[in-house]
Amino acid sequence: MAALLDGKKVASIIKEQLKKETAFLKEKGLGAPTLVSLCVGEDCGSTLYAKAQAQVALETGIDYRLIGFEKGISKESLIAEIKKLNNDPSVHGVIIQTPLPLGMKLRDVISFCSPLKDVEGMHPENLGQLVLENDFVAPCTAQACMELLKSYKIKLYGRDVVIVGHSEIIGKPLSLLMLKSLATTTVCHIATSEAKKLRDHVKRAQILVVAVGKPHLIKGAWIKKGAVVVDVGINRLKGKIVGDVEFKTAAKRASFITPVPGGVGPLTVLLLMKNTLELFKRAKGLS
Ligand code: NAD
Repeated sequence: MAALLDGKKVASIIKEQLKKETAFLKEKGLGAPTLVSLCVGEDCGSTLYAKAQAQVALETGIDYRLIGFEKGISKESLIAEIKKLNNDPSVHGVIIQTPLPLGMKLRDVISFCSPLKDVEGMHPENLGQLVLENDFVAPCTAQACMELLKSYKIKLYGRDVVIVGHSEIIGKPLSLLMLKSLATTTVCHIATSEAKKLRDHVKRAQILVVAVGKPHLIKGAWIKKGAVVVDVGINRLKGKIVGDVEFKTAAKRASFITPVPGGVGPLTVLLLMKNTLELFKRAKGLS
């Protein structure tokens, strides 16, 4: 039976470190790292992710501001708001919540955010830096997968890593982080499934990361014996949150597996705060 890759436990360790560091900076009179979250649409504060951000910011000593906009805001007006934040020295990190309203894509607006405040590492310049193996700020969920594997001392060098999902926020940046660790990296996606090759790729994975958003897409029987399984998927099924991997059967074959919830999720929000702190330190000339 697999051991759990316990994201909550790892997150609580990082949380303590962040708390200490922000308290120290405040004591030194340097102020608080500040994260601004931009959200388009109704009832921004009630989304699960925004609630988690506000809570974790409070717990780690990060100042957090949520700014909501009407669903009908134009792209130009949103960009103007982003530019204001670029010029505000009291703001160190900016995140744009997704999904954005129909017709507006994150990639269309994030390029107007200063790369020095792009806390999620989604600005084209920061994504480009990843190719050059500079992951000062990388997309938080991809970073969270790496942090979890590092915390459990999972070796990546030379191992067969299979990532299922190739989105801009998870699969693609994660593949670059895996390459930086010199893992032999394969990225699968919808076309892999359509070509009926997904099972074969999954079967040879020593380390499998799944970020698709389809409940139980990956069958437990496909997992290689002793593999490490990181399930990023968050799906609602019959009133419960489940991942993309059939947990029960996969856990019988894997050596390590993430629970869903409680795996990658808790770390993602925390890394958002860690990145805010890093951007703050860089802005103050401390790193
Ligand atoms: P996305 O829709 O942008 O990308 C989905 C990816 O899955 C694409 O690469 C697509 O080609 C691939 N795909 C779709 N159907 C497939 C199939 N049948 N077989 C193989 N590949 C298939 O999704 P996303 O934004 O990257 O999110 C993926 C999942 O991760 C979602 O469940 C989301 O809720 C979750 N998520 C979790 C966290 C976290 O912190 N745990 C953060 C962000 C997203």
